[in-house]
Amino acid sequence: MEAALKGYFGYSSFRPYQREIIQKVLDGRDCLVVMATGSGKSICYQIPPLVTKKTAVVVSPLLSLMQDQVMSLKQKGVKSEYLGSTQTNSSAFNEAEKGMFDVLYMTPEKAISLPSRFWNNLQAAGICLLAVDEAHCISEWGHDFRMEYKELHLLRGLLVGVPFVALTATATERVRRDISTSLVLCNPHVVVGSFDRHNLFYGVKSCNRSISFINELVKDVSKRSAVGESTIVYCTTIRETEQVHEALVTAGIKSGIYHGKMGSRAREESHRSFIRDEVRVMVATIAFGMGIDKPDVRCIIHYGCPKSLESYYQESGRCGRDALSSVCWLYYQRSDFTKADFYCADAKNGTQRKAIMDSFMAAQKYCLLATCRRRFLLQYFGEELNSDCGNCDNCTAVKNVRDLSKETFLLLSCIKSCGGRWGLNLPIDVLRGSRAKKIVDNNYDKLQMHGRGKDYSPNWWKALGGLLIAHDYLKETVRDTFRFVSVSPKGVKFLSAADKIDGTPLVLQLTA
Ligand code: ADP
Ligand code: ZN
Repeated sequence: MEAALKGYFGYSSFRPYQREIIQKVLDGRDCLVVMATGSGKSICYQIPPLVTKKTAVVVSPLLSLMQDQVMSLKQKGVKSEYLGSTQTNSSAFNEAEKGMFDVLYMTPEKAISLPSRFWNNLQAAGICLLAVDEAHCISEWGHDFRMEYKELHLLRGLLVGVPFVALTATATERVRRDISTSLVLCNPHVVVGSFDRHNLFYGVKSCNRSISFINELVKDVSKRSAVGESTIVYCTTIRETEQVHEALVTAGIKSGIYHGKMGSRAREESHRSFIRDEVRVMVATIAFGMGIDKPDVRCIIHYGCPKSLESYYQESGRCGRDALSSVCWLYYQRSDFTKADFYCADAKNGTQRKAIMDSFMAAQKYCLLATCRRRFLLQYFGEELNSDCGNCDNCTAVKNVRDLSKETFLLLSCIKSCGGRWGLNLPIDVLRGSRAKKIVDNNYDKLQMHGRGKDYSPNWWKALGGLLIAHDYLKETVRDTFRFVSVSPKGVKFLSAADKIDGTPLVLQLTA
């Protein structure tokens, strides 16, 4: 094992878990590997073939990803090839069947459509493992469900005695169970590495995506690019990708652009110039993803709230793979939170719809949170930190800590009195004393809290509302395209406690 690691990859020691996983695979045991992006999962399925001289079959979702891996393995002297659904190269197929490759990549479509003759031949030549990369795609509870992944268990029957290795960087408990069940893993050796990326700083900025904001982003990016640091800016739409890219170019910053509507040639060129440091900034949609093996990206900016916390974790994890300090900023505006329905449009059934909604809501909470962001992020993946991290904006910001119990009481009781039938705006208008028709028609102007919140601006109240949602005093639900805010059980408890005595102080931290 060590000889292969040194000889082919040039590394002198294994990273945590790598040796253990490789050993289990060599023993013929199924494995479920959940480790952070950049922790070195690929080696776990690339070394066994070099030790056993048998082929490792790797199922991977993206052609571009496979191409990159094959290219890089070939450079190291590892015999490698990929079979995609559009691949017409029959000599690759024939060689593959004879066991000529150490590592053989294929798409899931290809894997399930290959004739059993192929598998029989290859197995006769020798298969040391079948790896399922990005295994979370199997689960409807994952953030990137792919139908073809569901069929992969068919290979189980064809490849008797071959250990299966499922690998992913993001999997909640539920997704892990799904992977194991769907692939019919047999008493798998489960490895769950820590999700904590110590070297990454996490921060969030609330913004309205106006020109002035783009200018701020340009300033930030240009500082980094001037000292030779690489940044990826992720935008949620192609239009915004173009806007930000144009603003950077106008400011004289050489930057690349990458999105799904570009031709594959243009995308490859863009990718290459970023990897080779010809440009220091890449503005992209999330199409720019899994295949980026650039260890020294120093900053990831999300321009807009991502569609799920899982994908945020994965995308932000693309910086600092070399273990040096790097930063992950997320810029959101409240209107991002109305996109849930747009994302849900892809859902094929209720389960998927709920899964999409849940992870989107988690991303929203991450934005609104006033406490340690790393703690929240890790908790989402089932990992508890003993203390706040000291390396996120909420941990390091100068805090304006004050007792907001009076204001919270006002907002919660107003929302309760309005029957939880509205979003945040109407109750806030009531607090600010509006006599709009909707308010008068519903007699909300007769409520005792009507007009009692005049001292604060609507935006201040909205910020407080956001905090109360993030900390579970308020509950936001989405029906059709409408968002309703109601008082949660925790909020009700707060209200009744506040009713009895003069009020328990509720100390919330507002970032100064
Ligand atoms: P993952 O698939 O978990 O995201 P990769 O397999 O792409 O991570 O590995 C991330 C980086 O770490 C790669 O550049 C890889 O070459 C490097 N790497 C992997 N194992 C080791 C090791 N034992 N020692 C040093 N570097 C390693
Ligand atoms: Zn923190």
